[in-house]
Amino acid sequence: MLKHNFSAGPCILPQEVFKKAADAVIDFNDLSILEISHRSKDFVAVMEKAQSLALEHLGLTDKGYKALFLGGGASMQFLMVAYNLLENKAAYLNTGTWSAKAIKEAKLFGEVIEVASSKADNYNHIPKDYTVPSDVDYFHFQTNNTIFGTQLQSTPDVSVPLICDMSSDIFSRQRDFEKYDLIYAGAQKNMGPAGTTLIVVKEDILGKVSRQIPSMLSYQTHISKDSMFNTPPVFPIYVSMLTLEWLKEYGGIGAIEKLNNQKADLIYNEIDRNPLFKGFVINKEDRSKMNATFVLANDAHSKKFDSLWKEAGINGLNGHRSVGGYRASMYNALSLESVQTLVDVMQHLEKQA
Ligand SMILES: *Cc1c(COP(=O)(O)O)cnc(C)c1O
Repeated sequence: MLKHNFSAGPCILPQEVFKKAADAVIDFNDLSILEISHRSKDFVAVMEKAQSLALEHLGLTDKGYKALFLGGGASMQFLMVAYNLLENKAAYLNTGTWSAKAIKEAKLFGEVIEVASSKADNYNHIPKDYTVPSDVDYFHFQTNNTIFGTQLQSTPDVSVPLICDMSSDIFSRQRDFEKYDLIYAGAQKNMGPAGTTLIVVKEDILGKVSRQIPSMLSYQTHISKDSMFNTPPVFPIYVSMLTLEWLKEYGGIGAIEKLNNQKADLIYNEIDRNPLFKGFVINKEDRSKMNATFVLANDAHSKKFDSLWKEAGINGLNGHRSVGGYRASMYNALSLESVQTLVDVMQHLEKQA
């Protein structure tokens, strides 16, 4: 039986992407995608397509940006960002576990100013009253906090370069992408399988730090080699390309955003209506449209609820260990019907309780 996959990551991808990816493992122009050279004409075309589609979806084509597909995960970007851009000090917004990890790495390279933090409240909201000093090298934040289920709805208005981890909401909604100088996202949250990370970087912010940067950790190295300095993660990039093609056929970010808003409205309306459930995030405007976190008002219902959603074919609903409760991750490929199935289960529980 096909599952309704609410997993936080690696996540659901479109069925047709799985099918095309499976086909390419067996036959990709008479070879397997797994055995071709990354320097072959066929793979160079895949890389170019993936890069151009990423820029096109973000509206950043021909605007001074480069798209890279590197290994190492989003976590590698925590240190690459600082290695390449942090000369004296940088400002960070602490909205969750991933922010804290990024801050820890940046401190190895310079002074870090934590402009605000919601850590004392277990990250149940997005801090808003803060100022970013104008003399920092950059301001770093996460648009979407995968673990806690919070999301920034607008782009902070600052005069310094904006660096952003969009791992779990990239390609899910429109933003003022041109305001950003560097965007990164691990593929496995909303773009592809684990194994590659998309970096979209404005070239003119690079080359300004005085330290030596090891070749593999330098954005300029990878830009100069069109993301082929060393063997790139061929298969994850191929599958990411397929997903970006699927998104284009769907109508792009604008079209998927409408579906994502419908899914988020459906689940949050039920969380607010159903007396058995409570949202984890305290301010409604901070709620993530990708990861809805919620708990049972009374833990006594957990056994029943867990068996009901499992029987309904739902997968991956358990919350992260630092939050508990439940997390419904509703990435692009998840259908409205899957969210409706979860809502039905929540209503079923209410009737039985
Ligand atoms: C998952 C996640 C990361 C870490 O990604 P890896 O690819 O596992 O290193 C970083 N930031 C956010 C927002 C995430 O959701």
